[in-house]
Amino acid sequence: MAKRALVCGAGGFIGGHLVNRLRKEGYWVRGVDLKRNEYGNTHADDFIVGDLRDPYAAEKALEGGFDDVYQLAADMGGAGYIFTGEHDADVMHNSVLCNANVLHAAKDAGVKKIFYSSSACMYPEHNQLDPDNPKCSEESAYPANPDSEYGWEKLFSERLYLSYFRNYGIQVRVGRFHNIFGPQGTWTGGKEKAPAAMCRKVAEAEEGGVIEVWGDGKQTRSFLYIDECLEAVRRLVESDFTGPVNIGSEEMISINDFAKMAIAISGKNLSIRNIKGPTGVRGRNSDNHLIQQKLGWAPNQPLRVGMEATYKWVSAQVAARKLATV
Ligand code: NAD
Repeated sequence: MAKRALVCGAGGFIGGHLVNRLRKEGYWVRGVDLKRNEYGNTHADDFIVGDLRDPYAAEKALEGGFDDVYQLAADMGGAGYIFTGEHDADVMHNSVLCNANVLHAAKDAGVKKIFYSSSACMYPEHNQLDPDNPKCSEESAYPANPDSEYGWEKLFSERLYLSYFRNYGIQVRVGRFHNIFGPQGTWTGGKEKAPAAMCRKVAEAEEGGVIEVWGDGKQTRSFLYIDECLEAVRRLVESDFTGPVNIGSEEMISINDFAKMAIAISGKNLSIRNIKGPTGVRGRNSDNHLIQQKLGWAPNQPLRVGMEATYKWVSAQVAARKLATV
């Protein structure tokens, strides 16, 4: 009989791709989300439209029993959503309820293993002030000082999951995602993250034009392509390592150089204007020592490869929208 997996947040970017990956591996997969995936990217065997803030919806999602549960449902978005302070109450309230309800229902349903998607946003701000030398090794999480309420919620929920492991014996796996990107993610509307936003701005710009980039452009980040993210998640879940562990790329780049990469991929002649905007910490990069040590593997695909695929997809969306509005 096929193993059964539940993906919470299956209507979203990573969840949608994860469903497909698990199906390819032969799992029977149920997805659950507030909404269906807008790009039709969820080939789940069963899909429940439900609100995981409601404990009964979480119980219902777990009905029938599962070998593995992946909890990715969260109220989140890019810097324009999580760093302005305007959505803090919703971000904390909504995500913590999803996390608590799914975990509790999974424990009651006798689930063997549950994966929790934490974020690099839980790392302390004081270790990420130097854009050229940020520190994001797993043990540097404490003393805690995330720069956003989104990060605090992630840190609290990590602890919640680890508590259930200690007190109830449910196997937990915690991954700290660092900027996951790729096709079929949010690319417009205010919740999009930097890679998709950058590709959209470049795709929309007229030849010889200007694109706006938030901050002074010297802030640094790394970005992990979706396929490598899923590879890491699956390897972690199949391993006997609980985590938390970074799931990210070590290829750090300044945001202006990132914009230049998107421009170069497009083949357009564009310039950059840096403007004020929410940016988060000054520097962030994944530290992959632990994942390499525990899983014997770490992501290594060059950023440019993933950006080419992402630009291709986002520019097709931009062109389709343009056609629809003519
Ligand atoms: P996403 O916004 O595309 O997906 C999250 C999904 O959760 C959405 O489809 C949303 O509808 C669903 N959801 C929200 N509230 C819900 C509720 N009450 N009930 C049911 N479903 C609900 O985001 P994503 O990029 O796919 O991220 C997935 C997970 O990974 C999230 O937990 C996120 O915090 C974490 N993460 C992502 C990144 C990244 O760069 N994408 C980085 C760090 C952490």
